[in-house]
Amino acid sequence: MTANLLEFDLEGLAVFCERLGEKRFRATQLFRWIHQKGASEFDQMSDLAKSLREKLKVHAHVQALPVLSEHVSADGTIKWLFNVGDGNAVETVFIPEDDRGTLCISSQAGCAVGCRFCSTGHQGFSRNLTTAEILGQLWFAEHFLRRHLKVDSRVISNVVMMGMGEPLQNYSALLPALKAMLDDHGYGLSRRRVTVSTSGVVPMMDRLAADCPVALAVSLHAPTDALRDNLVPLNRKYPLDELLRTCTRYLAHAPRDFITFEYCMLDGVNDQPEHAEALIALVRQHGRDGLRCKFNLIPFNPFPASGLLRSPQARVLAFAKQLQDAGLVTTVRKTRGDDIDAACGQLAGDVKDRTQVQTRIAQQRTIMLRPVDEISR
Ligand code: SAH
Ligand code: SF4
Repeated sequence: MTANLLEFDLEGLAVFCERLGEKRFRATQLFRWIHQKGASEFDQMSDLAKSLREKLKVHAHVQALPVLSEHVSADGTIKWLFNVGDGNAVETVFIPEDDRGTLCISSQAGCAVGCRFCSTGHQGFSRNLTTAEILGQLWFAEHFLRRHLKVDSRVISNVVMMGMGEPLQNYSALLPALKAMLDDHGYGLSRRRVTVSTSGVVPMMDRLAADCPVALAVSLHAPTDALRDNLVPLNRKYPLDELLRTCTRYLAHAPRDFITFEYCMLDGVNDQPEHAEALIALVRQHGRDGLRCKFNLIPFNPFPASGLLRSPQARVLAFAKQLQDAGLVTTVRKTRGDDIDAACGQLAGDVKDRTQVQTRIAQQRTIMLRPVDEISR
């Protein structure tokens, strides 16, 4: 079997080149061809020695996951469903905004954490994605979009690890992918523009701080252990106090001077004034001026098996105001791509019904709802 070069960060690629009997610096050229130019054919790589190209043709390939389908929303959001085999699929979502293009990437097929409000969690855990499968989502999307928008410059300016899966439970595959995103010879994204979202895998938050301190989002969802134990089962292992202490430690390394707390608004469950009050107290317990953080309130995207409902908009706004009045920076997330089920937690929508995925895999077709050329940035 030949090596998929999307599996490597620059250091890994240098080791690979050495194993082929080549100089390490060849890896830089190769890495740039792959990630900056989107090349997958070694014959395209004109400044590489012919002898190296011939070796690469024998020992290597560059390949992202196969696309099962593509959906383009009326608001320009694009969702791709990728086939990961065995009847499973993961999703990647591109969200264009005026001043940025954000790619939401998956890290696992399914998820073992099993949060009650998350359809990926309900699906259970299938498998970890490899580095090539994680990084390949960015490689594919960036170069696909450049071709279709007919631009040479970068289209994706921000990456969020907020697709399917718990990225910090797939750390060894995640790390080289993050490094390639940040590498000047790769995508050259600043650490502020790459966000890892976690349900709170405490030891791996410390590892991330040491190895590759990108922006951190923590999925909080509850102000007390009793409630969070129920919504995010990982809380039983890493309770709130420990989680928030870890956030404080992370701040010493973070590229931004705050941690983002995500909070999914669930009708009658975690959206009452007393929950906001408890949240304010929780943040104040950690640090003299409180833990430096921003709240991002996410309108819940309901799915029937959850038995949960979205909080009414007025309640979300009242909750936001209560936090703001206490001095906590709070935003309410806009939902994007609703018409194509691309919003948070709906990512597994198609996958849950495995027969449907099987049918799609059999069909192997791309569904174009609107020509991609029409997408405005
Ligand atoms: N596993 C990581 C990252 C993937 S989930 C994490 O939990 O942080 C990305 C975000 O989507 C998390 O904040 C998660 O809580 C949120 N989310 C999951 N299901 C949702 C739903 N049905 N509606 C709204 N947000 C949801
Ligand atoms: Fe996993 Fe995140 Fe979904 Fe929880 S919210 S089940 S951690 S993907």
